[in-house]
Amino acid sequence: MKSQARVVVIGGGVVGCSVLYHLTKAGWKDVVLVERDRLTSGSTWHAAGGFHTLNGDPNVAKLQGYTIGLYDELEKISGQACGLHRSGGLILADTPERLEWLKMAHARAKYLGLETEMMSMKEAKALNPLLEEKYFVGAMLDAADGNLDPEGTTHAYAKSARIAGAEIYQNCRVTDLKARADGTWDVITVNGNIHAEHVVNCGGLWAREVGRMVGLELPVLAMEHMYLVTDDMPEVIAYNKERGRELPHIIDFKSEIYMRQERSGIVLGTYEKECKPWQPKQTPWDFGQELLPPDLDRIADHLEIGYRHFPALAKVGIKRVINGPFTFSPDGNPLVGPVQGLKNFWCACAVMAGFSQGGGVGLALSQWMVNGDPGFDVWAMDVSRFGEWATRRYTNEKVRENYARRFSIKFPNEELPGARPQQTTALYDTMIAQGAVMGDSWGLETPLWFAPKGVEPKDVFSFHRSNDFAHVKAEVLGVRNGVGVTEIANFAKYRFTGHGAESFLSRLMTNKMPKVGRLILTPMLNPAGKLIGDFTIANAGNDTFYMWGSSQAQKYHMRWFEQHVPNDGSVNIHRYDMGLVGLSIAGPKSRAVLQKLTDAEVSNAAFKFMDHRAMDIGNVPALINRVTYTGDIGYEIWVAPDYQRRLYQEIMKAGKDEGIINFGMRALLCMRLEKNFPTWYRELRPIYGGFEAGMDRFIDLTKNDFIGREAAMEEKRSGGKLCRVSMIVEAGDADVLGDEPISHKGKVVGWVTSGGFAHFVNKSMAQGYVPKELADDLGKGAFEIEIIGEQRKATIIIDPPFDPKGERMRS
Ligand SMILES: Cc1cc2nc3c(=O)[nH]c(=O)nc-3n(C[C@H](O)[C@H](O)[C@H](O)COP(=O)(O)OP(=O)(O)OC[C@H]3O[C@@H](n4cnc5c(N)ncnc54)[C@H](O)[C@@H]3O)c2cc1C
Repeated sequence: MKSQARVVVIGGGVVGCSVLYHLTKAGWKDVVLVERDRLTSGSTWHAAGGFHTLNGDPNVAKLQGYTIGLYDELEKISGQACGLHRSGGLILADTPERLEWLKMAHARAKYLGLETEMMSMKEAKALNPLLEEKYFVGAMLDAADGNLDPEGTTHAYAKSARIAGAEIYQNCRVTDLKARADGTWDVITVNGNIHAEHVVNCGGLWAREVGRMVGLELPVLAMEHMYLVTDDMPEVIAYNKERGRELPHIIDFKSEIYMRQERSGIVLGTYEKECKPWQPKQTPWDFGQELLPPDLDRIADHLEIGYRHFPALAKVGIKRVINGPFTFSPDGNPLVGPVQGLKNFWCACAVMAGFSQGGGVGLALSQWMVNGDPGFDVWAMDVSRFGEWATRRYTNEKVRENYARRFSIKFPNEELPGARPQQTTALYDTMIAQGAVMGDSWGLETPLWFAPKGVEPKDVFSFHRSNDFAHVKAEVLGVRNGVGVTEIANFAKYRFTGHGAESFLSRLMTNKMPKVGRLILTPMLNPAGKLIGDFTIANAGNDTFYMWGSSQAQKYHMRWFEQHVPNDGSVNIHRYDMGLVGLSIAGPKSRAVLQKLTDAEVSNAAFKFMDHRAMDIGNVPALINRVTYTGDIGYEIWVAPDYQRRLYQEIMKAGKDEGIINFGMRALLCMRLEKNFPTWYRELRPIYGGFEAGMDRFIDLTKNDFIGREAAMEEKRSGGKLCRVSMIVEAGDADVLGDEPISHKGKVVGWVTSGGFAHFVNKSMAQGYVPKELADDLGKGAFEIEIIGEQRKATIIIDPPFDPKGERMRS
């Protein structure tokens, strides 16, 4: 065994072997994998081996597509068969809502280049005669679905990695990890130590325990999962004989069953409501290649429905029941990437669909390690997306919720109840008492909209406009015609201090740093010139800068800051988390309200647009920014949490005569839409360049050098490939939600990033990306957007429909 290696990958399941292979493919050969037992001995060996491209996040779907395409390459390199069966798969909808969901998934597949087809039940039955069509209303065929041999596939990765120079040590458990001062690791194993530059946690069922070796409590939990293998079925034998092919896979939303052909029988698995965590506190190290006792009672309800939907199954015997554990994160997507606060420690765990996702995870992680960037938009699986609030019990509740909902559709206005409320501000009860419907924003309860007296504060879930429509409209009009107040505690807030703070920020950000008492808006780019952040920065004087950004990306951003901060002590970075909370007041009467709350003069001359001040508001010491995301005249007021309640009371008192109203996140997001403002994570993501996203005025190529400047200059010169556009949509009773395809002259050319109904201007709006060359086509209805199966005409607009010259916010 080597005593020195560039990388030690811990864990020889399908994920660890994929990471190892991809590292060699990316050019790192001095890499080793250590496995506690033998390869596949975690959850990999007993997997059902199914694969598919469908995923709620289009970027994860793309990586799943990559994984599935990889198997031929692995077989060729390794000479090891993966046991591939590319049989295609049907997803069956039993209700109109589930059919709508399928239509949207099908539309999304068009711009992702995935091969799907909507079908009548007659057509679906012709493809898979086991189903009873009367129970369903429609189906979607996904041509890329299939299954494989888990063991063979894992060995194909391992052999391919070995051929490229990697080494694998089996029966070699890692018992501890010790960090050296230079950021390298001593990997302590039962067979001796390896000094490694990088360590990757691919511990699967033991990923949590490996995390604990370095002081991490990763949000990952194993669940028991059962599938049955039936005896041979005459129906299957006849089908194979007649058609010369296998039955396509099936997912049945109603019974929450998946199934596929296995030899001349069927494999049938469930994601049952009565699901069961496995080893919720500690996975025993001596758990071998073992199965768990079957518990058919737990899945009996699902089987009962399944037997009605697929009557032939009710008549056949069960040959085997497999019950095995595998791991999930709270949202069901993997945990991948470098861990904030630790040097050279990487994760590739909580991969619940190793045979759909393992290849993409390996590719992204290896590129990240070798090139400093995953090369894709991997936000949906980034380990940094969970905050401190994702505790062990939180994870337990969320994983159970997620498992039980594996085949449930999620509506765009549906806020899942598991593990809530987790974090609340001091205003939580006050907001609830005023009819707030709350949503979860990075673990924090945040008002979405307010139900007036007599209206139940509850969303009616739908893909169409819903019961909040009139109330959100009233909030928007209340702000635009008067004044409103909203909670903004869910923003990320940071403070940078020290004599190096300004030059540090200036090196990271594309815009010039503000003068004392002023604010700037600025994107942040990676070296490839892609967007990795979007912030508001205030210069408070005395080498102190405050910064606000997206709450969800706090750890993602902290990781980047820590990676680049000079180690000479010249810059201190503080992430406030909930240590600073805020309220925003906005609308034409907001200045009058603010003036009543302070002795300082707040006229337009004394307190200008994009000014930053520290002042007392009511009795409360606060930081104030003269800017709001509504695009209207308004203010963000930031205070320590102990003052937030008092601040709110003072604002409501001062605003009474002006008719102040509460407004929620949905009204706020609607107002930004009619200003053509982009949002982080939708319009602004690491797949877009700053100029492509239309952030030109915040990118100063003439200032000092900054990360991504060269790439940005090149993008400016070439104009980039894509262009962010705002569109008016001729919608029906449903607006865009995001991820719909945009067509031009009948061809899919782009995709929607976000949208909705813009209430003040009374229009349905969308933002999205199209090829740069098409962004000049301003013809009325020149584009079409597919909304729930219907092509809707869309027209690009250049100026925001509300206050196109920005006079209101500057007035
Ligand atoms: C019943 C069942 C059916 C499934 N069906 C499917 C399916 O159809 N399709 C699909 O894609 N997925 C399926 N899965 C899920 C799939 O098995 C997992 O996604 C996959 O196995 C995850 O692989 P992994 O490498 O992350 O973890 P694991 O397979 O658990 O591998 C982790 C490895 O790390 C090793 N290890 C841990 N700690 C240490 C240490 N300290 N030192 C050294 N080695 C260590 C372990 O021994 C283990 O071999 C199924 C799972 C189950 C249980």
